Amino acid sequence: MTAQIIDGKIIATELRARVAAEVARVKLEHGLTPGLAVVLVGHDPASQVYVRSKHKQTEEAGMASFQQVLPEDVAQDELLAVIAKLNRDPAVHGILVQLPLPKTLHTETIIHAIDPAKDVDGLHPNNAGRLAGGFAALSPCTPLGCIILTKSVHASLEGVNAIVIGRSNLVGRPLVQLLLNENATVTIAHSRSRDLAQLCARADLVYAAVGKAEMVRGDWIKPGATVIDVGINRQLSADGKTKLVGDVAFTEAVNVAGAITPVPGGVGQMTVACLLVNTLRAACAIRGLPKPAV
Ligand code: NAP
Repeated sequence: MTAQIIDGKIIATELRARVAAEVARVKLEHGLTPGLAVVLVGHDPASQVYVRSKHKQTEEAGMASFQQVLPEDVAQDELLAVIAKLNRDPAVHGILVQLPLPKTLHTETIIHAIDPAKDVDGLHPNNAGRLAGGFAALSPCTPLGCIILTKSVHASLEGVNAIVIGRSNLVGRPLVQLLLNENATVTIAHSRSRDLAQLCARADLVYAAVGKAEMVRGDWIKPGATVIDVGINRQLSADGKTKLVGDVAFTEAVNVAGAITPVPGGVGQMTVACLLVNTLRAACAIRGLPKPAV
């Protein structure tokens, strides 16, 4: 048996098209142009690539895109002043500070300074707390993408046994909350968990968000399970080139799972698309409009 490949590229493209249609509608009906501001500190090449991609996709969806690039040695107060200005700007409905920040800056203080209504990364404790409490919240984009990918193969997650490996604030923890909201039964595993292979073997849904190349082996997977691989790890291949691999040993798992996301081409494709979803939702909420149809 070979698993169905869950194509993140196709699903993200469809999602972006739905966002663009809703953006066009709120513009026409309410004169509202959702706006996303991305703040980049320093010149980290990977962060620059991400920021460029966010800018391009924001504009393609018909939204306003604002970028603020600050030097590596920017003072914390100066960055806080930039965020305060964006918080007050009525054209800006989403604020994202590209992480990681240089070590001289206190990430928690910076994230906490973002207006929770504009916190499209879903990392402000107000949003994390609301999500954990089962209230409406802006949720982190990568876990949102994981849920959408899962729902592309499962109409309902009710009562399904899921395991989330990894408990970061960015991925694992919010993913657990989103799965609970879907009425899944969730096990959360981490670096101190025992018998990970056995825990995994009981799960119908496996989410790997660890950051360790190919840690989840094929024989950990229950036959027919759905596997969502969040990991992005750079590995040197035999020809000396760098390739991306996930946290799951894909070539093994693909022969056991019912459905699986590839790396690249899976979860990674969804994150920016979900950022656009969050920006649209934030814009509608700030304007007092009903939740958009996406
Ligand atoms: P992180 O903050 O480093 O968290 C890793 C988690 O994995 C921690 O909870 C850690 O447990 C757990 N862990 C580490 N070693 C383990 C082991 N041997 N067994 C079980 N659990 C273990 O990483 P993250 O930000 O969540 O990211 C995870 C991966 O997803 C990375 O590869 C990252 O690049 C990728 N990622 C992808 C996207 C995307 O758009 N596709 C977005 C974000 C992240 P403890 O809590 O006990 O330390």
